[in-house]
Amino acid sequence: MPIVDQVDCPHCGTKKSGFSAYGGFRRSNTKGTRTANGYVYHAEDWYLMSCGNCKKCITIQYATSNVGGSPESISSILSKHGSPKENGYTYNEHFPKEISIDIPEYVPNKIQVPFKQALSNISASNWDAAGTMARKTLELTTKDIVRSKISSQDEIEKLITKTWLKKRITALKELGFLTDGLEELAQLIKDEGDGAAHDEEPYEENEARELIGYAQALLTYVYTIPGMVDSVKQKAIEETIEAE
Ligand SMILES: [Zn+2]
Repeated sequence: MPIVDQVDCPHCGTKKSGFSAYGGFRRSNTKGTRTANGYVYHAEDWYLMSCGNCKKCITIQYATSNVGGSPESISSILSKHGSPKENGYTYNEHFPKEISIDIPEYVPNKIQVPFKQALSNISASNWDAAGTMARKTLELTTKDIVRSKISSQDEIEKLITKTWLKKRITALKELGFLTDGLEELAQLIKDEGDGAAHDEEPYEENEARELIGYAQALLTYVYTIPGMVDSVKQKAIEETIEAE
């Protein structure tokens, strides 16, 4: 099927993903005003579209008008090249719109980027790529902890550019920035992610889903819980100021 429209995919989060049409349904076709060439007909059609990345579907509504008869039928459009837009239709709306993937709150944008890619690879059944991006999420998270918690530029430089991930995780525990449990979780993500990136055997779906779960838990501990605590503290300060 040819790509007939580009929409941000609500299932896998791919921006301007190419969607193909697989079916359609004419919701309404009304006869409007009369002109010298006949009545003007207004049609409103819904199309079932599949994302080129994850193959999951959305529905898109298009509208068009035609003078002297009903606009071209959906089956005729689909049998040619399936593009409502190229047949004079204009895009109206699509559902669902909201991205359904679950990113923990308060995670910085630069960490969200690899994590969203991990999730979008899960939706697209790319298990190796999902695992590799989970490992990258961990890698960037450890560097972010170094930059936000350590003040000495020399120390930051050493831990970011001259220390491998495994040693950096251990160092973060020794410096008190990761608890024993979190250090273990981080090492697990590292080892599993290495497996996804380097093993000859293809990475399996259950392994990839588990690994994403570990990465999600890590992000929740590192960003979401402290973020929530800060927001509660901030509220308490604001209320004290208001009360004074
Ligand atoms: Zn998609």
